[in-house]
Amino acid sequence: MPQDLTTPPTPPRRRKHKNRRGLLLPVCCAALLFLIVIFQPWNWGRSDNGESEPDPDGVTEEPEPQVTPEIPDWVTVNLLPVNEYSRPGLPLERVNGVVVHYVGNPNTTAEQNRSYFESLAETGETSASSNFIIGMDGEIIMCVPIDEVAYCSGERNFDTISIECCHPDDTGEFTDETMDSLTRLLKWLIDSYGLQEQDIIRHYDVSGKECPRYFVQHPEEWEEFRHSLFE
Ligand SMILES: [Zn+2]
Repeated sequence: MPQDLTTPPTPPRRRKHKNRRGLLLPVCCAALLFLIVIFQPWNWGRSDNGESEPDPDGVTEEPEPQVTPEIPDWVTVNLLPVNEYSRPGLPLERVNGVVVHYVGNPNTTAEQNRSYFESLAETGETSASSNFIIGMDGEIIMCVPIDEVAYCSGERNFDTISIECCHPDDTGEFTDETMDSLTRLLKWLIDSYGLQEQDIIRHYDVSGKECPRYFVQHPEEWEEFRHSLFE
């Protein structure tokens, strides 16, 4: 007896149904993949600003909370009025570093540079300021509070404290008195905010600007100075 007659052929309708079921798995996989890509579960627990939300299990490592330190008595506090050109009054929510600058205007005093920042409130000539200015005699003026944003370091304005240093001439080299005060101020900030060596940077490291000029032209001296802060 021919085989054909004992085994009836599968009805075409049933074959069609079987084929449809065979498609189900790849379609489901594709849909699942699509959902995973859309919802990105690996980003759950992260907010839009890129900061991690507190993890209920405490598994995610949270940065240490920062407390704004009290200003030492060797710093003269002479704040700028809040204004859009030099003291926007925006909170500096986290300090991740300190940026060192030179004023670029030889033989001017800390007070003169502070007055210039204050004058911008009236002239609106440009946006500029700094949290601290160190003079050639080593005087330190704080003109923007350390928990507020100053307009000094471009894209790092929002997570760093800025220090402008005065200098006698075009070389941009700081006096010994300025260097001593810069050292003292940086050590205090390093200690207060738990900063590391790589957190102490030049304006040059942010934007490529030749600032502070002397330490851009003498990078080995900059590295040596920065290293000395942690010895
Ligand atoms: Zn600068």
